[in-house]
Amino acid sequence: MQLTTAVENVLVVKIGGARGLDIERCADDIARLDRPLVLVHGASGMMDALCQERGIPIRTLTSPTGHSSRYTDPATREVFVEACERVNAEWVRLLGERGVRAHGLTGAEVPIWGERKTAVRAVVDGRVRIVRDDFSGSITHVQSNTILATLATGQVAVVPPLANSVDGFLNIDGDRAGAAVAGSISAADYLILSAVRGLYRNFPDENSFIPSVNAREIDTALGYAEGRMKRKVIGAAEALAAGVQRVIIGDGRAHAPIHAALNGAGTEFSR
Ligand code: ADP
Repeated sequence: MQLTTAVENVLVVKIGGARGLDIERCADDIARLDRPLVLVHGASGMMDALCQERGIPIRTLTSPTGHSSRYTDPATREVFVEACERVNAEWVRLLGERGVRAHGLTGAEVPIWGERKTAVRAVVDGRVRIVRDDFSGSITHVQSNTILATLATGQVAVVPPLANSVDGFLNIDGDRAGAAVAGSISAADYLILSAVRGLYRNFPDENSFIPSVNAREIDTALGYAEGRMKRKVIGAAEALAAGVQRVIIGDGRAHAPIHAALNGAGTEFSR
């Protein structure tokens, strides 16, 4: 296989799929960027809409330690893959409308690989069970050549929160997917846009907003994060450990969210 050479100064941006973020505004802001970009998107909003439309229950697995994730049984996985493909195509369209050439890495081009846990101990509907048919997984590696080849043609690479595996596609966490992607291509910056300003010591007390975190402070920072913020801080730590120079958790609701975060508005993690 031919190795694709490195691309300099890459920005990886993860934009979640939940409500609260203004996707059009993010797309406008991307059109003003002048550097190679990988966009990792979520699918949760689309997923919830499709499940509701088709009468598929939305179920959550909660680990005994309190960590929760979407219960992705085989029927749910099928819808999840479809939700990812739809959101991916929507991003390619939104960017195209703004004159930005983008390529969706779906189907055979999904660049992330993972493995599923074949037995998960979890609380489902209030009862502890061993779940054997969950198709979510953890990331094992990223095929960076596919991403670099897209960037080398001057296109934005649009990556869904899916991993290839011996068991077919898996549902993976988008924040950590972004971190793995950023690490695999030695990105300069990894930006996670969320529906908050960044990390707080005592959320949501505005006075406790944290503008910067260095590598030695990450464990302490992780202690401040609850719920969905936890995975973002874990993602930040993973990306820095993999060699990314700077990770920012920024506000996706801001006017020009990407530029604002890159210019210091979010929580900046550095090595
Ligand atoms: P996603 O992009 O995954 O949908 P959100 O945009 O909901 O995630 O972002 C993270 C959420 O984490 C916030 O809505 C907030 O409620 C929660 N949170 C928990 N602890 C903190 C913290 N210490 N600082 C900031 N947000 C926090």
